Amino acid sequence: MAITFNLNYDAIVIGAGHNGLTCACYLAKAGLKVLVLEEYHTIGGMTITEEITLPGFKSDVHAFGYQLANLSPVPKELDLSRYGFELMKPEISYSHIFPNGGYISMYRDIERTIKSIEKYSKRDAHTWNKIFNNYLKNKDAIITSINSPPKLLSLQIKDMEKRDLEDKKVDDDDLNLDTYKFDLQSMRSWVNEWFEAEESKIMFGTFSAFVGLAPDDAGGGSISYLFANIIQDGGNNIVKGGFINLPIALSKYIISHGGEIMTNAAVKNIVVNKGKAIGVRLENGKEIGVKKIIASSTDPYTLVIKHLGEENVEKRILQKIKKIEWGDAIFAMYIALNNPVKFKNDSEILSLSSQIHLSPPEIEYLSKIFYECRNGKLPANPLAIMSNDSLMDASRVPKNKHLLKFLILSVPYDIKEIVSDNNLPNESLTTELAWNQVRDIYGDNIISSINKNYIPNLCSEILKVKSYSPRDFENKPSTSIRGTLSCGAILPYQRGSMRPIPELANYSIPSISNVYLCGSGSHPGPGVSMAPGRNAAMKILADLDLMV
Ligand SMILES: Cc1cc2nc3c(=O)[nH]c(=O)nc-3n(C[C@H](O)[C@H](O)[C@H](O)COP(=O)(O)OP(=O)(O)OC[C@H]3O[C@@H](n4cnc5c(N)ncnc54)[C@H](O)[C@@H]3O)c2cc1C
Repeated sequence: MAITFNLNYDAIVIGAGHNGLTCACYLAKAGLKVLVLEEYHTIGGMTITEEITLPGFKSDVHAFGYQLANLSPVPKELDLSRYGFELMKPEISYSHIFPNGGYISMYRDIERTIKSIEKYSKRDAHTWNKIFNNYLKNKDAIITSINSPPKLLSLQIKDMEKRDLEDKKVDDDDLNLDTYKFDLQSMRSWVNEWFEAEESKIMFGTFSAFVGLAPDDAGGGSISYLFANIIQDGGNNIVKGGFINLPIALSKYIISHGGEIMTNAAVKNIVVNKGKAIGVRLENGKEIGVKKIIASSTDPYTLVIKHLGEENVEKRILQKIKKIEWGDAIFAMYIALNNPVKFKNDSEILSLSSQIHLSPPEIEYLSKIFYECRNGKLPANPLAIMSNDSLMDASRVPKNKHLLKFLILSVPYDIKEIVSDNNLPNESLTTELAWNQVRDIYGDNIISSINKNYIPNLCSEILKVKSYSPRDFENKPSTSIRGTLSCGAILPYQRGSMRPIPELANYSIPSISNVYLCGSGSHPGPGVSMAPGRNAAMKILADLDLMV
């Protein structure tokens, strides 16, 4: 094959989500001439902000809370504030409200969180303080593990063994978390071990559902611990003006360092010659060559199966990639409002919370959702997570108007059966059409239920609702395979040095020397952390003998 590519670029990054852009920033910082290719009409991936309900109402379509990113060195290292990036830091990070109007809130100030938990259990409040202090003790190690390539599983286990033995020598009132057990412990097991009140258990336990883990799934306990502590420590912040301002700041950095970004540029395949990538071919037929490396932030299936192809990757790897578990899908309703919502108990606290979990205080309630979802049924009483868009940042709406989002965790990607006593069509639904047929009715039913149980003025204040099904998420600018948010389920065997599969865990591909993974399919996984992008860039620069 004659190679006719122009070789203008040292590096091509596929995908302009926040991870692809972060990777590109560090490559550009090191002096490489970088091109970022994005298939959607704007940059941002799962950090876009769009007017999807009405003009002037700017919704964060996917990510809203800046949480994991609190542990990232990227904003400082790249001086992103120079490029317009600014955080807003609400005092109340989360509240969990129950149908009887009761609630627990997590404040930026631990003392106020403790007071809030004390309403339900003094012992749980004391325990939370101890758990949080334990987190602070381990925080540096956690930051390092997130912002570095994953350690081999055997080394990780050795570390855990060592720590567990050393911890047992500490004979004081400290918390010994037994790290090996903790790493595999389910959420239910973890909350039952540490908390007594059902309200505290659900308040902390719900965080594992964020990455699609049911109460009895292995590994859920450590996810709940991590999320809750990161938020207690750094807050549940939001990006001023919308999450899109993070990718915009990263893109400005790239351009100011000589890089280029092309949107409406879907990559069809990576061209490989003798075990080396030499360029990409776009869906529109255009070919672009590359001198040194290609980094891809698409999901691992797209990169390996579609972009590299069966002819370039070992059979063993192809088979493992095809067996990746993607997890449960998500649903969302974006709602433009005339006036702010008022909760059943008329609490100011709830209106001032960045996000709000709405559920009864029962772990079994979460189990039922996952049971229904995993059996192809639409959960009758799903878990809703509310983002308080306009009350946190008035610049996202026209004057005196309001906006919120309900993220619904978890729903089936393929609906096999409708369990409901309301308006949903009962006739058998074809898989492709099912979500189109039921999406808006399902969204409306959830809104009615929230109106009845938690927010009595919700329905009367609505200007416009837009519901997104798993199929909509999959079609959006995202790596939302099968309508999921994790880019590969966060199971113990798909985490750390097993992510996305052991052979690809170090951001590289054995049979192709210059293609790298830099998205949330790699360690440390989903969430806006900037870590997969930065970690991959460090690996690439080390391989190229370049220092940052
Ligand atoms: C509804 C929802 C709510 C969420 N809420 C939060 C939250 O509150 N806090 C949080 O931290 N995280 C949240 N997340 C998760 C978080 O948004 C993602 O984990 C993260 O943004 C993924 O970033 P990424 O750069 O790895 O991937 P993406 O943002 O998906 O970027 C990948 C990019 O690659 C592009 N692409 C794909 N294929 C091609 C191709 N062939 N050619 C060119 N470009 C291509 C895509 O269009 C996309 O822009 C949420 C996710 C969802 C779906």
